[in-house]
Amino acid sequence: MTIAYIGLGSNLGDRKSFIHKALKMLTETKDIEVVRLSDILETAPLGGANQPDYLNAVAQIKTALTAEDLHKILIGIEASLGRTRNEKWSSRNIDLDILLFGDEIINSPRLTIPHSQMHLRSFVLKGLCQLDAELLHPVIKEPMKELAGRLNNADFVLNPELPQLISVAGVIGVGKTTLAKKLSDILGCKCILEPYDENPFLPDVYAGKKELALDSQLFFLTGRVKQLTRSALAAGQITISDYVFDKELIYAQILLDAEQLALYKGIYPPFSEAVVSPALVIYLTDSVQNCLERIHRRNRPYEQKIEPQFLDALSRGHEKLFADWKKCPVIRLSMLQFDFMRDDNVQSLANQIKSYIAIQ
Ligand code: ATP
Ligand code: CA
Ligand code: CA
Repeated sequence: MTIAYIGLGSNLGDRKSFIHKALKMLTETKDIEVVRLSDILETAPLGGANQPDYLNAVAQIKTALTAEDLHKILIGIEASLGRTRNEKWSSRNIDLDILLFGDEIINSPRLTIPHSQMHLRSFVLKGLCQLDAELLHPVIKEPMKELAGRLNNADFVLNPELPQLISVAGVIGVGKTTLAKKLSDILGCKCILEPYDENPFLPDVYAGKKELALDSQLFFLTGRVKQLTRSALAAGQITISDYVFDKELIYAQILLDAEQLALYKGIYPPFSEAVVSPALVIYLTDSVQNCLERIHRRNRPYEQKIEPQFLDALSRGHEKLFADWKKCPVIRLSMLQFDFMRDDNVQSLANQIKSYIAIQ
């Protein structure tokens, strides 16, 4: 017997009744036992499509069937409930997907298991968490509760027509550049690094000259835009950056006085609209003490004046940024647990990343 998980969805007609009818038909099928159903959630259609909202749920079943035979039964149930197949992702009275089939990995023309988008859909992961939060995704090799946390209640769609930007984020000294370089080696992709010694105002700002803080932040803003502007990154191409653009506002909030900040916020929006939004963020965290030690070890002169309070404020700013983040999935890694000097750790992170970006 295999434990499998079925995703049920409906956005036409009596949605709830279609879900219950499909479940009843599953229950009445030989060799299938429906064990449990998650709560039924109401969800906006994916990718902002102009369609009625969905009801979605996840069922845990036990079956003696193969995945192929189970799939045929699901298609039969869809058909007998009157589903007609129109274009992809069109409205439907019932949709039945195999999300997981034991820990099997299947890539056939008719069937992809685990379901190819399940880790990008909060409505699927929430249902799975209710049924078994510790259950491991057989490809990503993380439990459902971790996968759900990465989405922050949002749903995402892989889009190969956009640049596939992966941004490594976190405070100064957390290890962003080292990790970005290692990942770009493994993934064989372009790496965009923040130039750290080109800002002519920065040493003075760190030395306490507050009147130069706005110049320094504007210098950074224009530099980042040049690196991440849409024309600099090709559609479908994977790129890793060792910073996330949005942290500019965190630095501005800490380093600028009220008057400077008001001016800065006035000119920020068109810059932020010009840059490519990441498809995935890798957010590194560590203790202030460990970051300070890395800063001392790499010994960039002006950085030696950085105080623990500054790193603390940066760290709080990052927590706030990613608490509300809906632009893309976020993989959080605590450097207290993740040792990226170990090649196998970086390799498995690189493997996970492949599930979050559109690769042709
Ligand atoms: P999505 O798969 O993104 O949820 P959808 O459910 O609307 O989209 P359908 O039109 O129902 O897509 O199915 C498209 C094809 O997906 C079917 O022809 C089916 O063979 C294939 N397929 C691949 N993997 C699975 C799976 N795990 N479960 C169900 N169908 C699958
Ligand atoms: Ca589906
Ligand atoms: Ca389907």
